[in-house]
Amino acid sequence: MIILVKKNCEIEKLDSLINRIERHGLKTDTFNCEDYVVLSVSGDLSKIDVEAVRANDIVLGIKRVTEPFYLASRKNKKRDTVVDVCGRKIGGGNFCFIAGPCAVESEKQIVETAIQLKKAGVQILRGGAFKPRTSPYSFQGLGVEGLKYLSQAKKETGLPVVSEITSVNQLDLFSDIDVLQIGARGMQNFELLKEVGKSNKPILLKRAISATIEEWLLSAEYLLSQGCKDVILCERGIRTHEPTSRATLDLSSIPVLKELTHLPVIVDPSHASGNARYVKSLSLAGVAVGADGVMIEVHPSPETALSDGAQAVTPSVFNDIYKDVTRILPIINKRID
Ligand code: PEP
Ligand code: MN
Repeated sequence: MIILVKKNCEIEKLDSLINRIERHGLKTDTFNCEDYVVLSVSGDLSKIDVEAVRANDIVLGIKRVTEPFYLASRKNKKRDTVVDVCGRKIGGGNFCFIAGPCAVESEKQIVETAIQLKKAGVQILRGGAFKPRTSPYSFQGLGVEGLKYLSQAKKETGLPVVSEITSVNQLDLFSDIDVLQIGARGMQNFELLKEVGKSNKPILLKRAISATIEEWLLSAEYLLSQGCKDVILCERGIRTHEPTSRATLDLSSIPVLKELTHLPVIVDPSHASGNARYVKSLSLAGVAVGADGVMIEVHPSPETALSDGAQAVTPSVFNDIYKDVTRILPIINKRID
């Protein structure tokens, strides 16, 4: 980060600014230029309050030459993070299929879906028990009962499971859940991020509906700063002016993230499109731009689904998507571990 300081400011004020920055373990260098003094700052910028520095009366301006996140940054860790979920790897060339219904609806529904998905080759089963719905009158999920049915599906198939946690109070209930999902609506629930970041479980962090990539990575930074090492980013589409799909899948975020961060990134074509007909094309597109996995909503009878039925594919359509996606993996140097 570069701080531009007034040329003839009181030296005590400059020293005090430098002390305040260096106190946090950051390194500074001063350069005298014609019109101002350049103060370059390197190290973990998250340790200083950039806005407080900007408000200092000797500061003319601040230019960021590095990102505001540090632990998530590729500059901090060059090699790809590989997240291991009960032996299923994501990232660093390892591709992963996550699939299952939007919501767990009954023991039969989740167990039968899990059996079919296991046969199809899926690595991780998904299913929501606590559903953050836009309307308070929509199905809110089975809650604890849903988590119990997910555990049953895990026991019968050996598939690890991912499910969304919506409140800090639920943490104890998720002991048998292998990956905690932070949904689009929870991405900026910072108190939730701080608590799940301490949980020792891998976390699937979805992009909020209107979040920039920087805001998303700062949410990942919350998790990493609490000691969590296994964060999987999930691009699920963002809100744009375009009404023909539920969201707009931001495919460009994948190569951008690959430069900015070492964390694995997966694509969720189901919530991005909101339409089962587009799920296959968007899955293939996500893989082609470098995603480390896909998360697809699958329901045995989408027309009766209690949530997100329009975007759910049947197990047989999923089979078809699986086959085509796996055909292109070798071309982009990816494999399923
Ligand atoms: C979900 O995965 O079912 C979900 C609610 O997704 P999102 O948070 O991306 O809307
Ligand atoms: Mn859903």
